[in-house]
Amino acid sequence: MAERTLNCAACGAPIEVESRFTTLVVCQYCGQTLYIHDDAVDPTGKTAKLVDYGSRLALGKAGTVRGRRFKTLGRVRYNYEGGFWDEWFLRFDDGQVGWLEEDEGECTLVFKTRLTSPLPPFDDISVGSVVPVSQMRVFITEKGTGSVAGAEGEISFAARPGEQIQYVDGNAGGKAIRLVITRSGIDLSTGEPLEFHDLQV
Ligand SMILES: [Zn+2]
Repeated sequence: MAERTLNCAACGAPIEVESRFTTLVVCQYCGQTLYIHDDAVDPTGKTAKLVDYGSRLALGKAGTVRGRRFKTLGRVRYNYEGGFWDEWFLRFDDGQVGWLEEDEGECTLVFKTRLTSPLPPFDDISVGSVVPVSQMRVFITEKGTGSVAGAEGEISFAARPGEQIQYVDGNAGGKAIRLVITRSGIDLSTGEPLEFHDLQV
């Protein structure tokens, strides 16, 4: 059920926004990317259609993750040296939102949380070291650079296609940690890797 209905600023098509957390929506008819402010939309350019590769998830598709029902509202794709990874924006039946990171078929359910401590400069973070991140001690397993490839559907932050990003991956106390550093800030996600049967679609 739509939280609100807007009209595409480029082609006029109706756009149903399903989560109150959504700040960016891509018109499914013309590919226009629109930022949502209050109940108005701002066009920001077109996004290339994302190529599918046999993911179990798809836009608008419902499913369960560890028994919790969700609907897939949108997706952001990041390019990096190793290829790309997708982040699917999920809305659970109780209204909570989360993200499912998918990298070569490996899925991790993550929730964005606020970064409460300053992060050392990206260049000073080395793989194999332990870095304090928001009261956690994170063992760093990977870092690199990439870019936002594109988005579709609706998502809860402003992903500008082509924007350069830096990422840092690690783990702390059995949780997977990912930091994505963009021009607008640092995005911290914590979550748990999923087994194949944890996700039913
Ligand atoms: Zn449109």
